[in-house]
Amino acid sequence: MEKTLEIHEVMLRTLGKIADERSIELYAVGGWVRDYFMGREVHDIDCTVVGDSLNFAEIVAHYFSSKAVVYERFRTALVPVGDYKLEFVGTRKEEYLSHSRKPIVSEGTLEDDLRRRDFTINAMAVSLNSTSFGKLIDIFRGQEDLERKILRTPLDPMVTFSDDPLRMMRAARFAARLGFTLMPEIKEAMKQMADRITIISQERITDEFLKMLAAPKPSIGLITLYETGLLKYIFPEVDRLAGIDLVQIGEQEYAHKDVFYHTLQVLDNLAVVSDNLWLRFATLMHDIAKPKTKRFLQGIGWSFHGHEEIGARWQQSIFRRLKLPMENLPYVEKLVRLHQRPMILIDEEVTDSAVRRLAVAAGDALEDLFTLCRADITTKNPKRAEKYLRNYDVVFKKIMDVQERDQLRAFQSPVRGEEIMEFCNLQPSRTVGFIKNAIEEAILEGYIPNEYDAAKAYLIKYKDEWLAAAEQEIPKKSKI
Ligand code: ATP
Ligand code: MG
Repeated sequence: MEKTLEIHEVMLRTLGKIADERSIELYAVGGWVRDYFMGREVHDIDCTVVGDSLNFAEIVAHYFSSKAVVYERFRTALVPVGDYKLEFVGTRKEEYLSHSRKPIVSEGTLEDDLRRRDFTINAMAVSLNSTSFGKLIDIFRGQEDLERKILRTPLDPMVTFSDDPLRMMRAARFAARLGFTLMPEIKEAMKQMADRITIISQERITDEFLKMLAAPKPSIGLITLYETGLLKYIFPEVDRLAGIDLVQIGEQEYAHKDVFYHTLQVLDNLAVVSDNLWLRFATLMHDIAKPKTKRFLQGIGWSFHGHEEIGARWQQSIFRRLKLPMENLPYVEKLVRLHQRPMILIDEEVTDSAVRRLAVAAGDALEDLFTLCRADITTKNPKRAEKYLRNYDVVFKKIMDVQERDQLRAFQSPVRGEEIMEFCNLQPSRTVGFIKNAIEEAILEGYIPNEYDAAKAYLIKYKDEWLAAAEQEIPKKSKI
């Protein structure tokens, strides 16, 4: 950490000097300043330039022999330097005239820049020019909010969110990522303006949603979106999970749970053990078709028969609509489709072929499937939870055992049948199989290594003995 800060300082002072030489005011701002105060090591440095940020980015790129990637539309530029990403924005002033929804943009001061940021904790700046290096500019008391662990907007939240409704999702994401509380007026504004999220492009919404899913406790973000009414616009299928009672059938146990809160608990359980974003997404999706398949069965209770298959089939249209990367679709479909299968293998007198079928269906996702199943145990009774976990261990071991046996069975002598026939002067016959088997046994017993030369030498050595034995052995066997 110490070392990183030193490197940061060299980098930041260098940027400051480049700015000094051109009489430009330069500040580190936003996420980098927030994370610095939270003691996090971040290599994405957001910088605000009072003046022409794109031109300044080119100068910095030239200095470090790098290349600036310019986003003309947003007036921002990215300069990669080693494993740092320096992002430059200009100070902009946005004025909204009452009759127009489009802002009038002009060059502004640092304060103008900070007031159009999303939250006070993201609206602090640190001066990088030599004479004032390290001076904190915190007009919206972001540092105090960092300490209090709260999210507050620099302006009236209705104004901040109107300027860019995506900020409502950013609120949910930061709450989930940092564990911070939203100020009541922020939540109120989100409730009132929830439908404004529909003016935002799907790409930005999905990007923000996935970042929220990657947080240590994604449920915080999802509950925020649900309670403020945003979720029904962003992800209606997840929103619809709320209020659907889940009734466990069997063991005379009727546990009433809300599928939404159940799913969130499974997701949080999983997030503790896995950062795999697509496993997290599959977990969010695992019971998605429960509302659709809910039926009341006389004498049994509610059932959700077939929800895993229907949920899997929904994934393609969900992926399309959310513009999710299609290469992850088969994996998510597979996990949703199979999430009940390991449980079935616990209850039954399981045959090898049932075990084998699951292993083949899951393929590379087998371990992830079990990670999902274990996270799906949400009983509050610790004894029962332990029992369920043990059950999954037993099923997993069964799969490993069957696979191991299959592998042994698939194993072949390195000296093949044709060669044995040629060498022993044999026609295709059971004697060939007998000799091949003898070689395989020797390898399995560890008498010789599983290599061609050793097997051939072994064959040469025992050929006559085996031929004689085969003559006696085979007629006897064929009588059985
Ligand atoms: P992360 O750790 O995910 O990068 P971040 O806060 O750094 O979080 P960025 O998207 O990198 O987020 O943005 C950098 C800074 O730019 C933010 O801290 C914030 O000050 C400002 N910012 C980004 N997006 C918005 C937005 N939609 N509205 C207002 N300010 C924003
Ligand atoms: Mg950032």
